[in-house]
Formats: sequence, structure tokens, C-alpha cells
Amino acid sequence: MNYRQPRKKDRIKTLIYIALYLVIIGLAASYMLLSYWYIWIALAGVGLVILISWHARASAYHCPICSYEFEISMLTDFFSPHGIYKKGAWKYLKCPNCSNRSKMQIIIKTEHKCGGWDLNPRRPEPEDLKSSPLS
Ligand SMILES: [Zn+2]
Repeated sequence: MNYRQPRKKDRIKTLIYIALYLVIIGLAASYMLLSYWYIWIALAGVGLVILISWHARASAYHCPICSYEFEISMLTDFFSPHGIYKKGAWKYLKCPNCSNRSKMQIIIKTEHKCGGWDLNPRRPEPEDLKSSPLS
């Protein structure tokens, strides 16, 4: 599994997905909330699960103490606190390697089975080519 630093594009993509989810849920609410509220709740729940599972699949974490890189489960992703600082985004997690609890830097998986961050994973990004050790 390869990882790369998050780019501005990744953050924008995350924001677009969240905005899209909120818009769909908001529009659905105005049609469904009075008579079909249970369908609306199911829709909101399913959408949230899809959003979180996508995020959990596409993200990995970098331990600032031992530099270990690891992934977390969907549940951990959902329940652990996270935020933004100068270097990017962080998530408060326990490192599986050195057992320290700290703010882990969020990095991006470049290969994954079920789609996600890169719409066309076979086409390398110009930024990836520049930082490649082969070139
Ligand atoms: Zn560590």
C-alpha cells in the first residue's frame, strides 16, 4: 500500500462530498419529512455510512512519534476526534506501533480496491510524477 501527502484537491473533494450529502438530505427532507420520515432517516443513515466508509477506505494516518503509517476501521473513523492544523488535517488516535496517543497526520492512500479518491487511478498525477524516486 502506498501513501501520499494530502493535497488541496483532496480536501476540496471531501468538502464537496459532504456538501452533496447535506444537499440531498436537505432536499429529501422537504419532500419526505412529513409523511415518510422513516424513509428519510434510513436515507440519511445510509448516506452517512457510505460517506464514512469511503473516508475510512481512502485515508491513512502517520504517527508523528515513530513515523508508522496505518489505517483505521470505519468505527474508529466515526468516533475519534479530528480537526485541522497548519500542516493539514489531524485525527486523535492511538498508534498501533508505539502505543502513543497523539494527533496523527492524515495521509491519502494511493491504491485501493473500491475506488474513492482518484477517479482514474491509472493516470498518475503530475505532482506524483515529480516526487517519484524513479524520475
Ligand atoms: Zn507511533
